[in-house]
Amino acid sequence: MNTSRLLLSLIALLPLSAAPALAQDKVLNLYSARHYQTDEALYSNFTRQTGIKINRIEAKEDELLERIRNEGVNSPADIFLTVDAARLAKADELGLFAPVKSKLLEARIPANLRSPDWFAFSTRARVIVANRELVKTEEVQNYEDLAGPKLKGKVCSRSGSHPYNISLMAALIAHLGEAKAEEWARGVVANFARAPKGGDTDQIKAVAAGECGVAVSNTYYLARLLRSEKPEDRRLMERIAIVWPNQKSFGAHINISGGGMLKTAPNKESAVKFLEYLAGDDAQRYFADGNNEWPAASVTVKNPALEAMGKFKPDSLPVSTLAKNAVSAQRIYDRAGWK
Ligand code: FE
Repeated sequence: MNTSRLLLSLIALLPLSAAPALAQDKVLNLYSARHYQTDEALYSNFTRQTGIKINRIEAKEDELLERIRNEGVNSPADIFLTVDAARLAKADELGLFAPVKSKLLEARIPANLRSPDWFAFSTRARVIVANRELVKTEEVQNYEDLAGPKLKGKVCSRSGSHPYNISLMAALIAHLGEAKAEEWARGVVANFARAPKGGDTDQIKAVAAGECGVAVSNTYYLARLLRSEKPEDRRLMERIAIVWPNQKSFGAHINISGGGMLKTAPNKESAVKFLEYLAGDDAQRYFADGNNEWPAASVTVKNPALEAMGKFKPDSLPVSTLAKNAVSAQRIYDRAGWK
């Protein structure tokens, strides 16, 4: 055998000899838009329990989605984790997820918090925050009130294109119908204290500073401030009231963080195991509490900030409905000029 033929046969042998080693070495490739420090423990615990090593890529939601699309059938990604129903819907619409059938996931995650393709692992509410001196809380008990004439020049908001507001509008479409939902959007826009800018925390700060009277915010931003040791954060929280909206009607709008298995996942067995792991008691506590959220499964969490915010009636709308209404929601904001 000459050298080049020897080389050729060696190369031909390579994939075969490499295969058994890879099969033993179980891995999970996780693309995550979550980036909380407590997640470290969440992942190492999974590896300890299952022997499956996690390779993690963390980036912004849209970057990860773009990356998965560009990688196509060759994508190493097994699981995509993100926040917000509208974003999960986008991944689903692009046909990226594979349906997962798991008795355990069906038993642990309530039906309104999953779709055939993805699962919620924690929930957050979108609440009204009001400046105690500028606005009477009795006047801002419902999302609908934000569009009322009493709040002229008093409403601050982040962009209407942001997934959190898209999902809120998606819920309002489901409860009020498209026409009323659009009327609401126009009413809120007419009440703006300033053009939409910044994130939820910026709205909370603007309300505390009196730049506006009311805004909406996800609960974990408020919980973060409530747990803060900084005196300026404490003073800020003293100036605002947190209102659970629509307690006498459909309940406070609920959004989720969650994920699913990708259609092109090379390690499908590990992927399902990981999703099932996330629905377990310990993982649920880590996953939710790490960002001051509520677990999707019925697990109790000891979190002083969540407790301080009290009990409330959540909207029981299926999150898959939020996903379905996301496109109409964006159109309504566009038509209403909620930039
Ligand atoms: Fe957020």
